[in-house]
Amino acid sequence: METMSDGPVTTLPNNSFYTRRLPEGCAYCQEGAKMVLLVTGQCPTGCFYCPLSETKRGRAVVYANEKLATSDEDVIGEATAMAAEGTGITGGEPLAAVERTLHFIGLLKDVFGSRHHIHLYTSVLEPDRVERVIAAGVDEVRFHPPVVLWTRIDSTPLAAIAARAGVPVGLEIPALPHLREETRGLLEWVAATDLSFANINELEFSATNGDRLRRYGYRLKNDVSNAAAGSESLAYEVLEWDLSIPVHYCSSSFKDAVQLRKRLLRRACTTAPLYAQITEDGTLLKGVIECPREALPGIRSRLGVSSALMQWDEERRRVETSPEIAQAAAEVVPHPCFIVEEYPTADRLEVEREPL
Ligand code: SF4
Repeated sequence: METMSDGPVTTLPNNSFYTRRLPEGCAYCQEGAKMVLLVTGQCPTGCFYCPLSETKRGRAVVYANEKLATSDEDVIGEATAMAAEGTGITGGEPLAAVERTLHFIGLLKDVFGSRHHIHLYTSVLEPDRVERVIAAGVDEVRFHPPVVLWTRIDSTPLAAIAARAGVPVGLEIPALPHLREETRGLLEWVAATDLSFANINELEFSATNGDRLRRYGYRLKNDVSNAAAGSESLAYEVLEWDLSIPVHYCSSSFKDAVQLRKRLLRRACTTAPLYAQITEDGTLLKGVIECPREALPGIRSRLGVSSALMQWDEERRRVETSPEIAQAAAEVVPHPCFIVEEYPTADRLEVEREPL
């Protein structure tokens, strides 16, 4: 729970408790950061390693990052909250809900302009639908062909789609050690076409794919990671192969430690209330007083705290303030006080709670 150490200390007038540190120019926020827009949890492809959660798999739901989106406003609100510079459209299979996908492409380009970069993942090798999303504004397509096609990819329209796309088209697959030769054949074929890059991801266990991965002989890499043993070794081997296209490898730890952290920091910098401290991991530290709403004015007055620094949280039905103020409150109010650490995401997942 270490807080960010760089940047100016902001001390608000009339409040000796308040020492929130703001990340100076937040290096993470200066890098590209995209919203993840899941346009449907439905997908006909049926990959054995599919990591989709039960709340999404097979369901016609839309999630903007962690937020279940039931309106355009939810999607735009989430993109705004994280100051998104672009969007990765994913699923499920986005082209299984092509009208909805087209709608969101148009919406994002209308609201954020043509420079809002959109890439789209799909496992559907169907020229018509791919051309429609490109015409609507998709800036890059990442194909994820099902493994049954890896050895006969030359019989699919993928090369023709890439040749006509007019935008970068790449391949994105997990590193599956039991399909080493198939992976090599696929990548060599890709390198000889108009596809412009290949992304290799470390295979990961999720809450839903464990049984299926174990049936294929996969095991966890170690006790502290959800990556599959052997996947990273294959990915490093792939990077050594003499392929004439750029190949990028994304490890499980990079996704967690770098990509997620960047996104959390970006959202925290944009949305954190004044009293919250932003940690180096992008989570928020807050002080919490569990009391009835009616007690709030009295506590504020007793501690001499402004309303900007102590507020009622209707969603969690508690008072929120800075960790320092909660520390002081714990000595004088008859209510339970805590310091909590939570994600700055729409679901506000609480990861730690320390009683005071
Ligand atoms: S294409 Fe993606 S969403 Fe569909 S089954 Fe495969 S991994 Fe899951």
